[in-house]
Amino acid sequence: MSALANSNRATTVEVITIGDELLLGFTIDTNAAHLARALASIGVHIARRTTVGDNAAAIARAVAEALERSQGVITTGGLGPTSDDLTKPAIASLFGREMILDEAHLAWMEERWRRRFNRPLPTTNRAQAMLPAGAVKLDNHHGSAPGIWLEDERGRWVAMLPGVPREMRGMLADTLLPRVQARVAASTVVRSLTIRTTGVAESLLAERIERTESETGSLNVVLAYLPSISGVDLRLTVRDVPPQAADQALTEAAARLRRTVGEWIYGEGDDDLAAIVLDLCRSRGLTIGVAESCTGGLLGARLTAISGSSDVVLGGVIAYHNDVKGSRLGVDERALREHGAVSEEVVRQMARGAREATGARVGLSITGIAGPTGGTPEKPVGTVWIGTDIDGEVEARLLRLWGDRYEIRERAAQWTLEFLRSRLTEVAALPERQA
Ligand code: AMP
Ligand code: MG
Repeated sequence: MSALANSNRATTVEVITIGDELLLGFTIDTNAAHLARALASIGVHIARRTTVGDNAAAIARAVAEALERSQGVITTGGLGPTSDDLTKPAIASLFGREMILDEAHLAWMEERWRRRFNRPLPTTNRAQAMLPAGAVKLDNHHGSAPGIWLEDERGRWVAMLPGVPREMRGMLADTLLPRVQARVAASTVVRSLTIRTTGVAESLLAERIERTESETGSLNVVLAYLPSISGVDLRLTVRDVPPQAADQALTEAAARLRRTVGEWIYGEGDDDLAAIVLDLCRSRGLTIGVAESCTGGLLGARLTAISGSSDVVLGGVIAYHNDVKGSRLGVDERALREHGAVSEEVVRQMARGAREATGARVGLSITGIAGPTGGTPEKPVGTVWIGTDIDGEVEARLLRLWGDRYEIRERAAQWTLEFLRSRLTEVAALPERQA
């Protein structure tokens, strides 16, 4: 056992992902993200992440540098059978180890090829059975390249995992995590909780939170603001505390956020606003019909992407052309002529039309200018009207959205879902307020 592994400060490891495709940007480095989350759950910090190409010298240098700073290094990639797979020999020579043929692994691969493909193992695959002397083989239940665990006299280790994400994840869960966990015997964890908000600007959220957070900064919970098209996620993270204390601190911090900015919070973790809205409708016996102009079906797609949505979503109309707004949704010609297609009057009529055309109790409507063309001084790009009709009670809202065409359309759909969510939760809250 190394002195470092026995120390009681949190264990740090570094991750090195290997592959020219990562450096060139053709493949997104999902392995590093997955490793970080999985290791945090057992209390192991990733202190640094590095990416190098398929180059033996670069791999060896990156591993050597990482081992100067940390107890262990996890690599992914470069374990395949082809000439660009250099991880094993590069790290073996760094450790001063020879490559030795693992007869048992070779026999296993030969048998696997016969069974699976009914043909002999290609000679190139033999390289996958070559292991550095003294290495521990990490079984791969999802592919043919074994993972490798190599350790030096000082107890510093390198774990080499395959690059294919499915194989990497399988080997990590089956073999490596238990091994690292036994090694570090961490009594502390790193845990996160994400609270999802939408319909509010990041700066406004921060202002409100920071006003109340100053009194409660003692909990050791770090708050990160993560804005995206769907809204601003608030990610709470605690580090280096026992699991129970971590959960308690996160629960308390989340409750505080709910008190401070609760009106904009729609969910936690990877909750989808469309799913939340469907649940709200389902529990109230409400059905939905949609009428979409500038989003061209995005709202319907968001709702129907949720499995089981058919008991709530009845259908909708993509009313892109004014003629269709008239003929399918009953929007009157006068409203279109006097106010224009992007107007409060028209979005209200569209919401009602959505309800009537589908026979639903809730009608949702969107009409706006997604750009980049079509804007005017009075109605610039990003001007979007959204409407909700709940059992004949129509409300409309004007949005001034920003971004490119894609972003404006996505935001319009998200804001419409939020509009309905806020209306439904207000309705639900009323009796309580009166009581
Ligand atoms: P390799 O094990 O290096 O032959 O990688 C096999 C395949 O896995 C590559 O073609 C990539 O598609 C994928 N891959 C490798 N490294 C990563 C990574 N860090 N994140 C996501 N995919 C990866
Ligand atoms: Mg590769």
